[in-house]
Amino acid sequence: MAVRDAHPLLESWRDVPAVDHHCHPLRRWPFELTAVELRSAFTEAIDPAMAEQHVTQTAAYQGALPRIAAELNCDPSEAAILGHRNAADPASYARQLLGRTTTGVMLVDQGFASGDCFTLEEQQRATGIPQREIIRLETLAETLVNDSSEPRAWFAAVRGALQASIKRGAVGVKTICAYRASLKLRPVDTDALGVAFSALRLRVEHSQPVRLAGNALCHALLFEAAQACRELDVPLQVHCGFGDPDEDLAETSPLGLRPLFIDPAYRGLRVALLHCYPYHREAAYLCSVFPGVYMDLSLTIPFAGLEGFRAMRETLGLCPTSKLLYASDATRYPEVYLVAAMLHREALAEALGELRDRAIISRAAAVDAGRQVLAENARRLYRLPNGPAG
Ligand SMILES: [Zn+2]
Repeated sequence: MAVRDAHPLLESWRDVPAVDHHCHPLRRWPFELTAVELRSAFTEAIDPAMAEQHVTQTAAYQGALPRIAAELNCDPSEAAILGHRNAADPASYARQLLGRTTTGVMLVDQGFASGDCFTLEEQQRATGIPQREIIRLETLAETLVNDSSEPRAWFAAVRGALQASIKRGAVGVKTICAYRASLKLRPVDTDALGVAFSALRLRVEHSQPVRLAGNALCHALLFEAAQACRELDVPLQVHCGFGDPDEDLAETSPLGLRPLFIDPAYRGLRVALLHCYPYHREAAYLCSVFPGVYMDLSLTIPFAGLEGFRAMRETLGLCPTSKLLYASDATRYPEVYLVAAMLHREALAEALGELRDRAIISRAAAVDAGRQVLAENARRLYRLPNGPAG
């Protein structure tokens, strides 16, 4: 199967180095990639039965294979791709595929990084692409429970640690509240917070792993972090919409974040809504009415087949092109960064191209909008300097 003819708008963004404002670390090489591992990179499923039996039957995977194969100049089959990549020098292989993503800087969430992932310094050396850190809020806060006797002391420690990380060069904070609690934010009851924090402290005292969960802890922490981000002048990224089945998708609509948008205590806070699908229309609405709200589609584009392209079109219904951000949300394998980058540019070209074809916007406006989404919006949002140093 041949990859479709390139959309004419793509040519005008060929030299636009993108800001990938939400992605994860690559897996440390060398390693031999298996079919199940490659398939697992194109699904949010955790149960290996999905990768073993069903991922090959998705539009996402079937669409990814010919794109990877075209880059490798091999047969568009899983076996040919795995054979080619496992025989290649891993460093030059990754450089080739990441080079094709035309990425100027990567903002990296190391939240679920384990020992087998690159550090940011290693990743910068390995890929030649500048890397900037996004701090994962809950992971950081979990490390500070041990030294805090009560919630106020804990919040002060979190604020201090956020400030220190930003000073060291981190450019934003990300919350995975959606994985640990509901995103329907409610005022926190201090008694409930005290009880939940005491339970956490008990776990520490018994040397058990600390895992933040539940509305009292997660919402209180999120409100504190929102204040801190406003004061530190960095965006707060909020995972909303689909993710792995650890989250309850019914509780992850960005509409639940309303207190952050209407309470004067957070005035000036910049919020980047990540993923969003299937709540991308709700996210686009929020972007259209609250000046500080931004959004991306992350893995919606490479994972949802034609639905990803529709999501881009629907997003650009209400969301101003000055508020949409590019994110690969890729992790571990160079193939995912490549496919996500190619499909995002194609989805953007199709959605903006349709607006131009219907004479709603001019060709020049479509070209400009693409540049905004790929790079300029994120540079402004994260206060990144212009130029390759990112
Ligand atoms: Zn992510």
